[in-house]
Amino acid sequence: MSSESLINNWNTVSQQVAQACTQAEHADTEKVTLLAVSKTKPAAMIATLAKQGQHDFGENYLQEAIEKITVLKDDTDCAEIVWHYIGSIQRNKTRDIAEHFDWVQTVERDIIAKRLNEQRPEDMSPLNVLIQVNIDAEDSKSGCQPDELSTLINTIKSYERLQLRGLMIIPAKENTDAFKRTQQLFDTIKQQHPELSAWDTLSMGMSDDMVDAIANGSTMVRVGTAIFGARG
Ligand SMILES: *Cc1c(COP(=O)(O)O)cnc(C)c1O
Repeated sequence: MSSESLINNWNTVSQQVAQACTQAEHADTEKVTLLAVSKTKPAAMIATLAKQGQHDFGENYLQEAIEKITVLKDDTDCAEIVWHYIGSIQRNKTRDIAEHFDWVQTVERDIIAKRLNEQRPEDMSPLNVLIQVNIDAEDSKSGCQPDELSTLINTIKSYERLQLRGLMIIPAKENTDAFKRTQQLFDTIKQQHPELSAWDTLSMGMSDDMVDAIANGSTMVRVGTAIFGARG
């Protein structure tokens, strides 16, 4: 894809997000972050969008992500990039995540949170964490079960090197009320835990359903294909 079409795609998606915010009821008070999901795409495409003002990028594959983060570290256009890890987390990979990322959106159990907390370097700010929730309650899918959420929150909030920011979901395609139910869960936790001072992020919505997600309270949409094109 040419830089020109990449920038066109990004402009289109940014406008769609802005329009969805205007239409959503929460538009006045909350801002929706566009996370550009750059997995499998080259570092040069990330640099092109960073230069246009795109700040947040999401990566799923650790080795590939670290290579890109390292390459772009010395590029002044990329100095403002905020890196989000959105892939599944194996126990032996937590140190690499803790040392390279600003956010991790896929925390679903305590052992992972505990290791990230221990391994977050002292000279970096606390790692921003979202808990991935299995809102569809399917055995096969990843994410913490809604009834386990309360225990996990109470554990994570005691970890000083982690900053708990909210929830993330990847709903099943056929589950039409997943966004609504997750918004309710998110708001209930906010009310029940006033001590969670940074509880401000609900990450839901991708290329195909971002407008619907924003209408249902998403504060962060994760968009890959609509910006970068199909993954090969
Ligand atoms: C790949 C991926 C996305 C982006 O999906 P698109 O359909 O390409 O927009 C969003 N979230 C997660 C967790 C992903 O793995």
